[in-house]
Amino acid sequence: MKLSNYLIATLKEAPSDAETKSHQLMVRAGMIRKIAAGVYNFLPTGLRVFRKVENIIRDEMNKAGAIEVMMPFVTPADLWEKSGRWDIYGKELLRFKDRADRDFCLGPTHEEVVTDMVDREVKSYKNLPITIYQIQPKFRDEIRPRFGVMRAREFTMKDAYSFDVNELEAEKSYIKMFNAYKRIFERCGLTFKAVEADSGNIGGSFSHEFMVLAETGEDLVLSCNTCEFAANVETTGIKDVSIARNDKDFEPLAEVSTPKMTSVEEVSSFMNVSSEDIVKTLFLESDEELIAVLVRGDHELSLTKLKKFLGSDFLDLADNKVLKENNIVKGFCGPIGVNFKIYSDNSIKDLTNFITGANKDDYHCQGVNYDRDFLVESFGDFREAFDGDSCPIEGCTGSLESTRGIEVGHVFKLGTKYSESMNAKFTNQDGKEKNYYMGCYGIGVGRVVAAAVEQNNDENGIKFPTALAPFQVVIIPTEKTKGPALSKAEEIYDYLTNSSFEVALDDRQESPGVKFKDSELIGIPFQIRIGPKSLAKGVVELKNRLTGDILEFDQNDYDGIREKLNELF
Ligand code: ATP
Ligand code: MG
Repeated sequence: MKLSNYLIATLKEAPSDAETKSHQLMVRAGMIRKIAAGVYNFLPTGLRVFRKVENIIRDEMNKAGAIEVMMPFVTPADLWEKSGRWDIYGKELLRFKDRADRDFCLGPTHEEVVTDMVDREVKSYKNLPITIYQIQPKFRDEIRPRFGVMRAREFTMKDAYSFDVNELEAEKSYIKMFNAYKRIFERCGLTFKAVEADSGNIGGSFSHEFMVLAETGEDLVLSCNTCEFAANVETTGIKDVSIARNDKDFEPLAEVSTPKMTSVEEVSSFMNVSSEDIVKTLFLESDEELIAVLVRGDHELSLTKLKKFLGSDFLDLADNKVLKENNIVKGFCGPIGVNFKIYSDNSIKDLTNFITGANKDDYHCQGVNYDRDFLVESFGDFREAFDGDSCPIEGCTGSLESTRGIEVGHVFKLGTKYSESMNAKFTNQDGKEKNYYMGCYGIGVGRVVAAAVEQNNDENGIKFPTALAPFQVVIIPTEKTKGPALSKAEEIYDYLTNSSFEVALDDRQESPGVKFKDSELIGIPFQIRIGPKSLAKGVVELKNRLTGDILEFDQNDYDGIREKLNELF
């Protein structure tokens, strides 16, 4: 590619809404441009990197025996009604009507479409197992699109779906995909970790996320310092280590005036107690009812764990309007005298004489004890784990350490969730109709690109792993007008292009400084620098962007340059 005929589109400044390094660098390097919140153009340099990731994914999917198809972006509501997700998917699902008033949505994921497709085409156990995949756009009307293409609204996903005759076979398909994912992220040059995860909206019984480790990652990962355990904080379990309380220790219940003190910190310093002696009461709306949840003052509620415990599709903090309608006093919430079911985290089991809100403006209660002062519907593991918690694995005495991660891939065991709800069946060996056992497997292609940038950069720009770089080599003649440096550059360009390297020739009418800067910003791993001074010495220079090393070659030693590059790739 001759850069004089290319759209380089680099920028000196990043847009003000770019919070992460990868977002800033991808815009500055001329890879992406926003056209609406969470909706992006991929410019030529961005697309080149995107294609590299896509090709690695496609290659590994094919090697793992998955078969490529392409399903539509626009999907009809009746499929979603069949699975029951039309009503429960929430606002991320962009619904619309066609001219005949029929309901459609933009596919946020394709379990429904693929289950319907396989059900129509695959009738017998003889045609199973089968794993289908596509690399195709998705739309999710994310509440907070951010970080560029990392959390976009329209994005490209590789989504694969396995269909098997039984659970054991489905497990084999899952492991195949799990291993393919490991190879994909290794080939992309990423530092990552596979961790246990929640199944969220997709459903199913079991899942792993592939996390690219990066400080700006939106996910918190907890890993054991002793055993192999690693999980997303959303699902990390906590061992119940409570011991029995003694009701002889109970003190009388009393109200305490705590004017304007609505936070745990304020109450603990005013009452001179630790935050562990305070119990927070949270009110939540679930599918059917309003509930109260208790967690210790020094803990955070895990909505994901509670949702799973309750088996509810919807669970969120009640808003101010709902609190008011139910006479709940915000900032002074407590469990005493409340008519809703109260769920309590296990850590409260052995607490006596704690402090809660009094459900009355400017008052808290002290000497509070469950059973005597209020009843608990169920105790459970409802709090988020954090650094230093003990490992949840039975028999392991290790403790958990946290790191941040970017979820680039997710593999799920679905079981018969979709085949049952959509009545999708095959005929087994005994001639009986059975539901398929399914798995689903997603990778965000653009998110992988962004994660690679997030993990590989320095003050000059992106340091692409060689497998993802938009070009492998850039040749930079350091003279502006046509002269010996440009002629030499063109010769080497032709030679390396014919040797199957992806080469850029920076023949733009720009100063050498601009060319060097752009090449570093874009993250091309190798520069061949050709200037009047080096030519006078009879040499050209090869600079390695990743190590900073500069090697000199005889100006006519094209084979030597080629061999060196072959060695480096
Ligand atoms: P997240 O928790 O980040 O919203 P998710 O669990 O909803 O992700 P999945 O439904 O598992 O994501 O989707 C599969 C993959 O698609 C993810 O691992 C991620 O790489 C990618 N992905 C999901 N949402 C987005 C998005 N808004 N923008 C870009 N990529 C996305
Ligand atoms: Mg999501």
